[in-house]
Amino acid sequence: MDKLHYEEYFKFFNNSHTAPYIFKKGALPIIFSAPHTYSHLRKGKIKIAEKGTGALALYLHENNNVHCIIKTAQNDDDPNFNEFSPFKNALSEYIKQNSIKYIFDLHELKPNRPTEINPVIDKGKLILGYEKLYLTIKQIFISNHLKTTEDFPFCGDNPNTVSRFINKKNQIFSLPIEINSRLLYPEIPCNKIDLILKVFSNIIESTIQYDKNL
Ligand SMILES: [Zn+2]
Repeated sequence: MDKLHYEEYFKFFNNSHTAPYIFKKGALPIIFSAPHTYSHLRKGKIKIAEKGTGALALYLHENNNVHCIIKTAQNDDDPNFNEFSPFKNALSEYIKQNSIKYIFDLHELKPNRPTEINPVIDKGKLILGYEKLYLTIKQIFISNHLKTTEDFPFCGDNPNTVSRFINKKNQIFSLPIEINSRLLYPEIPCNKIDLILKVFSNIIESTIQYDKNL
């Protein structure tokens, strides 16, 4: 795939794909996960597709050399909710095979919420041993004036989340980040796409710097 403008990555999610998820291989030991890019049912309710997280993960893969995993099918596999999830199992195996050390699991907040960025750490349990890296990341959001609320509205206490599963199984740094939808969509006039791309690029650089200093 040639490098595209961020906006163009949305087209990927208008198509149906043969596999239920895809990996894109990067060179850095970092993976971005977008498990909710197609709408799905949760307890009988339709959850809206989080295409913005998919576009962001694909963009970061192409431009910042990270790995990504993207859901590519509308099916019953909700990796952030179901105990058994083919997506999560494949992700865990891929992380092992590719010596990945850091995962960012991307989600979207409804646009009517005041919060812009919600890092999910379950009162610190998800970042045990990585407090310094986490504080650096949180500071990047804050210093870029993004309205950041840790563990709110989501605190990550569901035992089946992607992050918790990978944190336990692969024992690597595993951070869910909820991003307000209104920041991510080109058709929304007050979007903050340029800022978000800059902030995530900065997070990737800081993570690599942190890794070098270990
Ligand atoms: Zn989600």
